[in-house]
Amino acid sequence: RVVYVNGRYVPYRDASVHVEDRGFQFADGVYEVCEVRNGRIIDESRHLARMRRSLKELSISFPMADAALRLVMGETLRRNRVRNGLVYLQVTRGAAKREFTFPDPDAVAPTLVVIARSVDPAIGEAVAQAGIRIVSVPENRWARVDIKTIGLLPNVLAKMAAKTAGAREAWFVDRDGFVTEGGSSNAWIIVGDALVTRHAEHGILRGVTRTTLLDLIAIEGLRFEERQFTIDEAKTAREAFVTSATTILTPVVQIDDTPVGDGKPGDIVLRLRQRFHDIAEWRSL
Ligand code: PLP
Repeated sequence: RVVYVNGRYVPYRDASVHVEDRGFQFADGVYEVCEVRNGRIIDESRHLARMRRSLKELSISFPMADAALRLVMGETLRRNRVRNGLVYLQVTRGAAKREFTFPDPDAVAPTLVVIARSVDPAIGEAVAQAGIRIVSVPENRWARVDIKTIGLLPNVLAKMAAKTAGAREAWFVDRDGFVTEGGSSNAWIIVGDALVTRHAEHGILRGVTRTTLLDLIAIEGLRFEERQFTIDEAKTAREAFVTSATTILTPVVQIDDTPVGDGKPGDIVLRLRQRFHDIAEWRSL
């Protein structure tokens, strides 16, 4: 296996960045995870556009053009013979003597790491067919979760709480009882015949999978409500599910101690999961 680090493809075990990298010291960086399916990167343009936005919000100047970045992603997948799995991109502000304020961008280059990994799609499919359990945890993150930063400690702790409880994902719940999103996914419910998810402007990451699902909902002429919902409403919903690049659409069958619907994966979410890749942007490597 090889990984891409700052212009070079290096063996996985030898890959390293500097100890004074600001990603390491301050979580001063951003990332993306894209699904790879049948040798193609799914929704690559949307992921790159979101990464540009994250970088801009943090004033990290990252000079590499999208075309070059696409080549590096493709080459990293090719060199690792990944046909199904994921590609992970991380850009940090770079390595500099530890100081809170930004280093001079003319003197310090950002760090780019690209890692590709094979994942058997049958694993995710089995999880989706069984459905997942969710635990609710108090929202305790900063106000800029719209930026996909590598500062993920609250998410790590939330997902660890889920794992300890035998669940696969945690939903953050704000002080008013409204679900914001999952530890690494967006949260959805189906009420009556309407798919419901929170406004992307309020306390969540605008998921690429969420955006592509909105396209699918429009194409299918399904009812959609962009609004916040409480954890109590979710527990009484007809169906519930999560979206993310690695889970696509995955049904939720239990929230805390309450089964969702009949406690089995919902028909609507399973059908949309089947349809998802008809709509997603596919780019051959
Ligand atoms: N919300 C959070 C906090 C995430 O970490 C992720 C993905 O990792 C998502 C939502 C879903 O985003 P996407 O569909 O782009 O993977």
